[in-house]
Amino acid sequence: MKDHKKCTRCNELFLCEPIFVGDEDIMQHVTICDVCTAYREAEREKSKGDQIKKSTWEDTVPLELRLTDINHKDYYKVMPIHNELQRWIKHRSIDDKKNRPNFGIIGTHGSCKSRVIARAVRQLIIDGERVVWSDSTKFQWCIRKQYTTEYKSEALRHLKAVRHAPWLVMDDIGALKSSEAISDGLYSLLKYRTENRLRMLWTSNEKVEEMLVGIENNERMRSLSRLAGYSNIITI
Ligand SMILES: [Zn+2]
Repeated sequence: MKDHKKCTRCNELFLCEPIFVGDEDIMQHVTICDVCTAYREAEREKSKGDQIKKSTWEDTVPLELRLTDINHKDYYKVMPIHNELQRWIKHRSIDDKKNRPNFGIIGTHGSCKSRVIARAVRQLIIDGERVVWSDSTKFQWCIRKQYTTEYKSEALRHLKAVRHAPWLVMDDIGALKSSEAISDGLYSLLKYRTENRLRMLWTSNEKVEEMLVGIENNERMRSLSRLAGYSNIITI
């Protein structure tokens, strides 16, 4: 039995013939069996994956929203929306009216709508989905800066990311400033994404009919009907 060792992990005997290089047995360090080695490697891979997901979560979602306590009484009130959003995410088919490509939550400031979205994003990241988080301020900054020398590449990088992301969050979309460039940018984004069946989660303090007020009506309706027509909308 001298070619066998007792695995320090599962206590089973396993075959481990010594291999001598000079006086030294280079198999000496082997203390666990093949099965346990494979198991341990899988565990290491998993924890590496968890680590990557944790940093993705931290890079994607703003800190304040990451700290959301879903057991808080305020969050409890929005639990029905939380559940509806989970249902929408799981329902992969986006053909019918029950599951349009976008999911919007409209509610006043402090109504936990971004927190509900953040929790959904957390689950998406755990499931290995790729999510890009944006908001009205960042989006319109990029629309404006894409033609400048100084910020061009940064702006274009973000605009490309929001266009192609399998899952996009557009937080506070109703706060987009009323300008033709921004309305056009929004329309182009929504058109590309809906045509490619990419999914977006959005929040707004304003109702759809209150958005982009002041822009020439045809332009405005084009963007807003793209948004409303392709979204499941819940008002808090
Ligand atoms: Zn073992």
